[in-house]
Amino acid sequence: MRKIPYGRQDINEEDINAVITALKDELITQGPQIEIFENKFAEYIGCKYAVAVANGTAALHLCAMALDVNEDSRVITAPITFTASANCIRYCGGSVDFVDIDEDKVVLDVEAVRKKIESHPPGTFQGIVPIDFAGYPVDLEAFRKLADEHGLWLLEDACHAPGGFFIDSKGVQQNCGNGNYADLAIFSFHPVKHIACGEGGMITTNSKELYDKLLILRTHGITRRPDLLEKNDGGWYYEMHSLGYNYRLTDFQAALGVSQLKRATKNIEIRRAIAKRYDIAFKDFAPVETITPPADNGHAYHLYVIKTERRKELYDHLRANGIYAQIHYIPVHTQPYYRNLSTEKVNCPKAESYYDQCLSLPMFPTLTLEEQEFVIVIVKKFFE
Ligand SMILES: *Cc1c(COP(=O)(O)O)cnc(C)c1O
Repeated sequence: MRKIPYGRQDINEEDINAVITALKDELITQGPQIEIFENKFAEYIGCKYAVAVANGTAALHLCAMALDVNEDSRVITAPITFTASANCIRYCGGSVDFVDIDEDKVVLDVEAVRKKIESHPPGTFQGIVPIDFAGYPVDLEAFRKLADEHGLWLLEDACHAPGGFFIDSKGVQQNCGNGNYADLAIFSFHPVKHIACGEGGMITTNSKELYDKLLILRTHGITRRPDLLEKNDGGWYYEMHSLGYNYRLTDFQAALGVSQLKRATKNIEIRRAIAKRYDIAFKDFAPVETITPPADNGHAYHLYVIKTERRKELYDHLRANGIYAQIHYIPVHTQPYYRNLSTEKVNCPKAESYYDQCLSLPMFPTLTLEEQEFVIVIVKKFFE
């Protein structure tokens, strides 16, 4: 029986040749492909600076470090995300407060975050990590306003949304990760995401100060920049100024990223067309609920999520038919690690109710019309 996964990378001959060419280069890491990838990615997203790193989790970790998260930090995020969005705060010793989602958008509820912040003494919280969940762009303008009122930073987890955008109150298109509202944003190039590098990640920002910090943290906290050195013993000389990591991307991964980026715009259009076909198929089909964004919202459709009361049975039924749907996500605050850390019960009923019903259907650019029709027929048959 054929298998249809929920997500799959799209690698073509041109991608493969780009990797082969990079492998024949003098430098297969710390070479020229990194800057090319960073510049082209920054151009695609519309931000000033981009820093390529080993994976999305490393990107989050470096951001938490650059934002000076420490043992005294309390940071707010959503429970419906991959665990890494919260873990990055823990890596730096900070604590995580989970605030419930807006049930229609499945993203962090800005008003619930406001309530949380304003029910605590000033200075309790240091930052917010909103997620463009499934590719649904968070209203960062509203989050920025709230963050500014309380002196907080904003770290956008845009792993699901390269190519996504929202329209701000001035009618201007704001691309996810463009740095106009959030201090920092991060992306992942894991094969199920829009752009595949095998493993890989990117941090984007418009802040020169954060950019300079990130470059140094990415390679061991070491710098060779003459203007930053305390002294200079000669051509070999470098100084370690902070405790960084080796979170670099290789040149052959970056070359794959550059090649993939050429199809990013086209592939987003394909994702939106797939979403539209699902929307139409389930529009008047009562047992299945869809999550439909407003018309002017540039959803990036990393995932296509449906909701049903009979989620577990439907999941098993699809699997029996070779359709590997997935669940995104198990609420992070219910994970044993976070439950054991928390002294009081975290109250996120909307996230928990969403989790009981959600199912991600196959969504990737090489999904054929015929495969999608098959998925729709199998879903509908289940409810007959
Ligand atoms: C994939 C993902 C990450 C982590 O990215 P990796 O490259 O797998 O480390 C973080 N946050 C979200 C929302 C993700 O989907």
